[in-house]
Amino acid sequence: MAHRLLLDTSSLTYRAFFALPTSIKAPDGRPINAVHGYLDMTAQLVRDLKPDEVVHVFDHDWRPMPRVRAYAGYKSQRAPDPEELPEQFDVLREVLGALGMPVAEAPGWEADDAIATMCARASADDLVDVVTGDRDMFQVVCVGPPQVRVLFTVKGVSQLATFDEDAVVAKYGIPPDRYAEFAALRGDPSDGLPGVKGVGEKTARTLIQAYDSIPALLDDLGAQTPRLRAALDDARGYLAAMGDVVPVRTSVEVTVDRSTRDDEALDALGEQHRLSGPLRRLREALDA
Ligand code: MN
Ligand code: MN
Repeated sequence: MAHRLLLDTSSLTYRAFFALPTSIKAPDGRPINAVHGYLDMTAQLVRDLKPDEVVHVFDHDWRPMPRVRAYAGYKSQRAPDPEELPEQFDVLREVLGALGMPVAEAPGWEADDAIATMCARASADDLVDVVTGDRDMFQVVCVGPPQVRVLFTVKGVSQLATFDEDAVVAKYGIPPDRYAEFAALRGDPSDGLPGVKGVGEKTARTLIQAYDSIPALLDDLGAQTPRLRAALDDARGYLAAMGDVVPVRTSVEVTVDRSTRDDEALDALGEQHRLSGPLRRLREALDA
């Protein structure tokens, strides 16, 4: 069995930025907090889980055209990234390359889709753990084979909760393969998805449990209360669009960069960006 760790690097770096103070700076005064937190999180995962492989997965396009074409509001309300963040992504890429750790992305797509595709292509005897703060990834959880779990950020990036299929059912009352429909009904404010008017988590769960699919639900509006019937009827276009927006893609092109570790370059990067501490801890964890 190979234990593979897929890190949702875009989601985790963003979380690390807000979890750690921007007073963590490189010698020239640039905040380096997100890279610092991400590398320490990776070291902790490697130490605790001793995985056979760790892959860092980036958003190639955080707002892919196929999703925006289906629903123009997709992520349209997102505040721009804090200005100290984009250059930290560039530093992180350089550091991961020098570490010789694989970096993956799906051209034209989000890390979500690259990860879902890699899960779909895993070997039957793999155990895949997806580390993320993005609820969309609950869609890929499965008993398997291969078994896929989500390690979800609870607080910052240092505390994670493990979600296997039973845990997703316990939390949401629906299995992972219905999560996309559940999210479409309930909405997801962080992605600009309003959901169906008046439908919260509880109603969404009841409806998903009662019907095999959203089309089956829409074919049975007569069985709903008048208010819900009207709301669902109004939401037909929205719900049809969500079929192209919420589901993660499982067969996109994924590119993986694998370089070899360059310890001299790492020492220099550690000095340049004041990352010597996290890089020492991560190298020790990888070498153990
Ligand atoms: Mn994402
Ligand atoms: Mn997402």
